[in-house]
Amino acid sequence: MANRILVCEDEAAIREFVVINLKKSGFEVREAETGEAALRIFTEEEGRFAVALLDLMLPGIDGLTVCKELRRASDTIGIIMLTARTQEADKIAGLSGGADDYITKPFSPSELVARVASLCRRVSLAGGKSEQGEKDRLVQGEYTLDLRRRCLLKAGAAIELTQVEFQILEFLFSKAGAPVDRLSILHHVWGDAYFGEEKIVDVNIRRLRMKIEEEPSEPRHLVTVWGRGYKWQS
Ligand code: CA
Repeated sequence: MANRILVCEDEAAIREFVVINLKKSGFEVREAETGEAALRIFTEEEGRFAVALLDLMLPGIDGLTVCKELRRASDTIGIIMLTARTQEADKIAGLSGGADDYITKPFSPSELVARVASLCRRVSLAGGKSEQGEKDRLVQGEYTLDLRRRCLLKAGAAIELTQVEFQILEFLFSKAGAPVDRLSILHHVWGDAYFGEEKIVDVNIRRLRMKIEEEPSEPRHLVTVWGRGYKWQS
């Protein structure tokens, strides 16, 4: 499952381009022409996919709806949206729907493979057992990150996080009270080979605030340090 990819793209030429390049790099690929087909394959194969690549504009249900359905079914699957350059606002919408990353068309084979491989690594990291002697949990005030079950507890109640959100919080918790710049977060969570923009950090922070802050617009824990980045304070 660590290298199984679900590709959903209605344009045959782009779909073939994606599938051929992923297969050439050793990934096992299932392809779907519509969102409905993608969800059917996902269900039939019991969600055994590391990453889903979803085109945003599809003839039936759109990529964003597929994204939300997949995220509802799985906290661990990595989701990358394929967007056109003119769909900037939709990218943000895609990420708030639970996507981990987006790739803007047109993209090169090397960019595609690097982004998919990077997300696959994070997904398999998340599925692995923590090493012996490693801490089981990080506690900050009423918040507890359970490192084995990969979830966040607030006063004992579970808050569902995507793998990316979990890794950002884990990183900030480990440096609690100190500002961490966006580039460090980007490299730590997305990997050094990440081709994208720092803005993706802000999008994930915004989504995290919606989940954990009483007043997301006036965060008390996940605070912005102007000119520096972000920090966690209890
Ligand atoms: Ca399309």
